[in-house]
Amino acid sequence: MPKGLTASTGMDALTHAIEGYTTKAAWEITDMFHLKAISLISQNLRGAVENTKEGREGMALAQYIAGMGFSNVGLGIAHSIAHTLGAHYDTPHGVACAMMLPLVMEYNAEYTGERYREIARAMGVEGVDSMTQEEYRKAAVYAVKKLSEDVGIPKNLSGKIKEEDLQQLAEDAFADACCSGNPRDTNVEELKELYRKIM
Ligand SMILES: [Zn+2]
Repeated sequence: MPKGLTASTGMDALTHAIEGYTTKAAWEITDMFHLKAISLISQNLRGAVENTKEGREGMALAQYIAGMGFSNVGLGIAHSIAHTLGAHYDTPHGVACAMMLPLVMEYNAEYTGERYREIARAMGVEGVDSMTQEEYRKAAVYAVKKLSEDVGIPKNLSGKIKEEDLQQLAEDAFADACCSGNPRDTNVEELKELYRKIM
């Protein structure tokens, strides 16, 4: 796979792992898969994008483990939004997921208990046990943003989303199968605000 496709599909796998870890139905066995996948992806995605053998092998394992987790418990609204962007604008799924993941993590943070501490730890952030809740939540989101940036994912869709499409997009995301699993219950107006962040 070329670099761009490796980066975006790898970030999709990270979105599966993080949304699967924080979804309402998450439990011990799927947590085990998701945390391992998060750790493997943060260790191997940069290498896979540089086409190292270790990076490729690590990502092959990580995406599979993430799939074993999320296929049992579902995902969240980063996926709901990504599905609509693919349908309306042909935005590649992994690119849409990568853009939405840190924004949705910020939106969901207050509804995730101590889970972002474990995400930060799995991503190699040091000192998470001495951080406040606010600090480890920020650290987890920052680690995701940094990985996305390091593998070359853009931060927004630079004008692709039109203001007149927002209502339809948000209604479609709200009706998406992944929406009800999001840790924070959402609505069409709040979904619109999330789209605005990547316009
Ligand atoms: Zn996906």
